[in-house]
Amino acid sequence: MERLDKLLAATGRWSRREVKDLVRQGRVELDGQPAAAADVKIDPTAADIRVDGEALSYSRFTYLMLHKPAGVLSAARDSRQKTVLDLLPPELRRRGLSPVGRLDKDTEGLLLLTNDGALAHRLLSPKSHVDKVYYARTRGTPTAADTARLAAGLTLSDGLVCLPAHLRVTGDGEVLLTLQEGKFHQAKRMLAACGTPVTYLKRLSMGPLSLDETLRPGEFRHLTQEEIAILG
Ligand code: URA
Repeated sequence: MERLDKLLAATGRWSRREVKDLVRQGRVELDGQPAAAADVKIDPTAADIRVDGEALSYSRFTYLMLHKPAGVLSAARDSRQKTVLDLLPPELRRRGLSPVGRLDKDTEGLLLLTNDGALAHRLLSPKSHVDKVYYARTRGTPTAADTARLAAGLTLSDGLVCLPAHLRVTGDGEVLLTLQEGKFHQAKRMLAACGTPVTYLKRLSMGPLSLDETLRPGEFRHLTQEEIAILG
């Protein structure tokens, strides 16, 4: 069960204060009846929630954007170590959410959590070539020749042939790296192969979804309806 004001504010369309006003004005309906109060508890997977007659489609799936902090595993569960699911309140932990793809334990940044398996599958499918943008700090700075090698498709020492990747040097020992795939330690291995090992890594975006920079490491929010729609 979740509070109505929290759920509506999580869409990003209204603040909690605005939700209170909407409820007071009788513009929010729960299962066909005006909501009695902004703090009523409802089951978002079952309730029909409407604002000004427009249905909010929480009902089937949950989509969360997490700013993954360093030091937690991006797995659904682990018998010994803390996972990203441990960062969620119990009512969200019960919804069968899984991280969409993996980030290393020491990597920070955007991690999508959902129980919409079809969407996760589409985003992760190697055929989809969903761009992932990483900010990395490196020991040393990649050269123009490294950028060209990455753009052409680097072959790693173990024989892995990488898809073309876009590298932009943004400062001394600072880069933005865009990958179309997500092999194990890929950003780190590619930058190490350029002679510039990664000292810090953060994912900024995945396809059309960018990390909300107002989220501090460890914080999460529900995706907005617009974000869910653009993820397709
Ligand atoms: N590449 C890496 O090396 N690590 C990550 O966590 C993500 C991409």
